[in-house]
Amino acid sequence: MKPTPVPLLDLGAQNHPLTAELRAAFDRVLDHGRFILGDEVTAFEDATAEALGAKHAIGVSSGTDALLLALMTLDIGPGDEVICPSFSFFATAGVISRLGATPVFADICPDTFNLDPESTANLITTKTKAIIPVHLFGQSADMDALMTIAHDHKLHIVEDAAQAFGAAYRDKALGTIGDFGCFSFFPSKNLGGFGDGGLVTTNDDALADKARILRVHGSKPKYYHAMIGGNFRLDALQAALIAVKLPHHAQYSHARANNAAYYREALAPLANKESLVLPYTLEQNTHIWNQFTLRLPVPEGAEELPRDALKNHLNERNVGAEIYYPVPFHRQECFAHLPKAICPESDKAASEVISIPVYPELTEEQREAVVDAVRSFFENR
Ligand SMILES: *Cc1c(COP(=O)(O)O)cnc(C)c1O
Repeated sequence: MKPTPVPLLDLGAQNHPLTAELRAAFDRVLDHGRFILGDEVTAFEDATAEALGAKHAIGVSSGTDALLLALMTLDIGPGDEVICPSFSFFATAGVISRLGATPVFADICPDTFNLDPESTANLITTKTKAIIPVHLFGQSADMDALMTIAHDHKLHIVEDAAQAFGAAYRDKALGTIGDFGCFSFFPSKNLGGFGDGGLVTTNDDALADKARILRVHGSKPKYYHAMIGGNFRLDALQAALIAVKLPHHAQYSHARANNAAYYREALAPLANKESLVLPYTLEQNTHIWNQFTLRLPVPEGAEELPRDALKNHLNERNVGAEIYYPVPFHRQECFAHLPKAICPESDKAASEVISIPVYPELTEEQREAVVDAVRSFFENR
């Protein structure tokens, strides 16, 4: 019998039940014809602000632009240093360099894959202006420790919550703790859109006002520019479509958490620190499982990374798996000119991680197929 195919993500399974509502939203925007900002975007901003418990939510063109806009609003530029983890999606570091500032790479905590507060504190200089904690894979960074460091050194905190819409730290929504929260609606995120889109949240009125002006080239009133911004607008159509999914996001997260709990239990007998380490959730965190990420430690003298072998094994059995992320920032060619960063835990994670399907619409049969495929890998080694 052929094993059940399991893609890494199945957007159709999520969107199909909403087809009628999505079509209605599309038709509404087509009819009124106001395609840029306007009521659709405002309504979406109000709804996301409420869902997250943020004072302000500002719809933007992508998660990357959310980060860029947050840093621009904080006047980050040439001569400034911004600390971020070395292990994340490229956008976290790319935006710092694009503003002419210097990204400074801190190491991560091995259990959560998130920014290590001690490594962060050790990198602070007189040039440091901000810290970007990333809530990687849907779990919060150590926000108490990082907020204390930021407070003591008068630094800004921009939370990269691209993978963490609806996740919480001590019951507080991520993206509402630092100066800014930055979200992405890239289709593979927990609240996935229909193209690119993003959101910036803040509880600070002045920062919100400034970010809204910078979102439209820094113009206020129209065609008068006291600042240089960009085009960081969220499309009305995108806002209308994602608004259809927003009321379901808590249920999506719940289903992901169920899948994660299933994997934890089913894979527990295989877990040991030599060959398979399961993801770990800190007690204070509400994890939303954007990814379920296994670690396969590399034995000394190994010729092949065990996680590469597992990925091949899973893919051969039609089970999706991906490496998030194979190269830490301090090893990227484009950052080779920067002072040498020492991030052993980021290096280790980059060679050990593999993410398996955890999307909300996984069926019982598919979850079993994933576990069977992982089990057969370890039994045959
Ligand atoms: C997806 C992602 C981004 C960028 O979001 P886009 O919408 O793709 O621009 C930034 N940071 C992290 C951690 C992400 O996962």
